[in-house]
Amino acid sequence: MAPPAGAGIYVHLPFCPYICPYCDFAKWPLRRSQARQYLAALEHEIAHAPAFEARTLFLGGGTPNTFEPLDIAATVDAVRERFAPGGFSEATIELNPDLGLCEPAAFEAYRACGIDRFSFGVQTFVPDELTTLGRRHSPSDVAEAVRRARAAGIDNLSLDLIFAIPGQTPDSWRRSLDAALALRPEHVSTYGLTVEEGTPFEAWFARAPGDFAPNDREAELYEIAIDTLTDAGFEHYEISNFARPGRRCAHNANYWANGEYLGLGVGAASYRDGVRSVHTRDLDAYCEASLAAAAIPGEDERLVDPERLGEAAMLALRTAEGVDTAAFAKRYRVDFHEFYKSVIDEMHAIGAIDVTPERVRLTRRGRFVANDVCGAFVTFAGAP
Ligand code: SF4
Repeated sequence: MAPPAGAGIYVHLPFCPYICPYCDFAKWPLRRSQARQYLAALEHEIAHAPAFEARTLFLGGGTPNTFEPLDIAATVDAVRERFAPGGFSEATIELNPDLGLCEPAAFEAYRACGIDRFSFGVQTFVPDELTTLGRRHSPSDVAEAVRRARAAGIDNLSLDLIFAIPGQTPDSWRRSLDAALALRPEHVSTYGLTVEEGTPFEAWFARAPGDFAPNDREAELYEIAIDTLTDAGFEHYEISNFARPGRRCAHNANYWANGEYLGLGVGAASYRDGVRSVHTRDLDAYCEASLAAAAIPGEDERLVDPERLGEAAMLALRTAEGVDTAAFAKRYRVDFHEFYKSVIDEMHAIGAIDVTPERVRLTRRGRFVANDVCGAFVTFAGAP
């Protein structure tokens, strides 16, 4: 497909006020001295990273709002100066809605430095489920944080929710979705809980697998999310993402269009010139290398056909538009229908994809088994 116009910059801010037992991200409990050293390392990386032109910025974590607002503003300014002198078309910050981290002055500082999109990690509006997830904010904190965001002039706001939390029921999930809608967000993301290796939730699952939602319950909850959010006027534009018209996340849209992005910070991933790379998740190793202006340890892989094609197909299939076969042919010089004939036939036969000469996309049924469908395209190595 034609490369998207807007490449993106991702900045990883890896400290959290506390650690949630399900989380697998690169994150550490906040220690001010470590955070200061990290900011210095980040500054070095921004100064020494290869030339790159970006249109969008995403500050993720971790919990970016554990940092001082002035430090966030300085980071945004440095990134803009180096990679987007013309300014960002969208700049998002992920926020923990804990009110102690959502001071009005902080929101104003974010706004003043050009951040124009807030993404709150709400997870659920049901107090018992928040406790299960180890989250310390309350549902009323979220309402107040949203009010403060609006007061600071933010008109593009996203709420993240999790389904298949142990103990969650269809009713309690509906209550969370309704509470989210009552706050009138422009965007909602819903993620099925994944039990990640090495987390306390993995040990819990090993002990009591029956506490976790089986696949059919998870599918039921996902279906409730699709129905509730689309009935409320949201476009289901990607497997986990819903937006009011015109409010899709441009940063992630670039990612799903297989566009280029530059990741800065510990554990951050990049995709440039056909190479996927990821920085080390070792915080000390990252800081040492960056402060010494040395190459940051990590891994990289040049994607060659058919991996490159499989990735592009997988990313496009995640979106509502699916694969635009003419654009695919133009960008990759491959006839999508011909190259993937056997996979397309197999997935079509089970009703997982809708196939026209112009497009191949997931059906509603296909969205429930999206990982399997996308996996079939990713692992297909070409006809024997
Ligand atoms: S879920 Fe978010 S707040 Fe919790 S530990 Fe992970 S990154 Fe930190």
